[in-house]
Amino acid sequence: MRPKILITDRIHECAVEEAKKFADVDLRYGISQDELIELIKDYDALIVRSGTKVTREIIERAENLKIIGRAGVGLDNIDVKAAEENKIKIVNSPEASTISVAELVFGSLISFIRNIHKANESMKRGKWEREKFMGNELYGKTLGIIGFGRIGREVAMRARAFGMKILAYDPGITVEDAREFNIEYSDLENLLRNSDIITLHVPLTEETENMIDKRELGLMKRDSILINIARGGVVNEDALYEFLKEKKIRGAILDVYSEEPPRDYRLIKLDNVLATPHIGASTDEAQINAGLVIVEKIRNFFR
Ligand code: NAD
Repeated sequence: MRPKILITDRIHECAVEEAKKFADVDLRYGISQDELIELIKDYDALIVRSGTKVTREIIERAENLKIIGRAGVGLDNIDVKAAEENKIKIVNSPEASTISVAELVFGSLISFIRNIHKANESMKRGKWEREKFMGNELYGKTLGIIGFGRIGREVAMRARAFGMKILAYDPGITVEDAREFNIEYSDLENLLRNSDIITLHVPLTEETENMIDKRELGLMKRDSILINIARGGVVNEDALYEFLKEKKIRGAILDVYSEEPPRDYRLIKLDNVLATPHIGASTDEAQINAGLVIVEKIRNFFR
């Protein structure tokens, strides 16, 4: 029996084609809650992104539903508790954007230390200001990676290619991991004190909320750079603002914020901040992967 899959948020066409190879697929982008409540009983699997709200009411009407696939990361739009109670499995695809995020770390970092973003702006204004844009190399610098999971490891591999020394802090790391990736395991304090560039790749949890606050920023070198492409709440933005404004650290690279979109742009507008609007996963490849990974997980489930 071929499973029946309902897709209610747009995923990449090639992922839809993959799903059609093993399932009967219906596309109902932009479906209303009422329509979904009516339709859901006919399906074995539901694929959504962030648009569809999968409420308790929908789940309780889903007589045949066995699995919900969320193409992407967050599960805020799914009533996870109701799904668990009804023995419906949930899968998502955080691994789909790993490479895109790791590449953005270096894109932003090189732009920052070579002033590429500023030089480009200056040229667009018709100026030729070579003397203003002295920069630095990555070669020989120490990169501190906080959170050595999927993204942290991809960052480490790329840092090695730039000839950087790598310190990593992650309570979940093993001696074998450190050996395999040829990094030096460090505690947090040593990493903060000794890194030229610090990049965060931890999830936002009770434990990691504000894990970089006044005390931690105070341990960093005066000419160091902090990168947060992980989650907004991991860094205390008020403390970061003070440190950057008073030039107690060299700069910050931010892709994520405690509030998105931010209401307060004070931090972002500082001259020593390079900011992007949460574009870590905004590549064609990450979007294609998000769909393909979910379809593959659903295929394996029905196997
Ligand atoms: P992952 O689960 O593979 O790795 C996270 C690592 O953090 C794990 O190894 C874990 O042991 C470690 N960790 C947990 N608590 C820690 C702590 N207190 N101190 C140090 N390490 C700790 O996750 P990932 O796929 O590598 O993603 C990392 C982060 O990147 C997540 O916050 C994710 O939301 C974020 N992300 C951002 C974007 C973006 O668009 N900017 C896109 C994708 C992922």
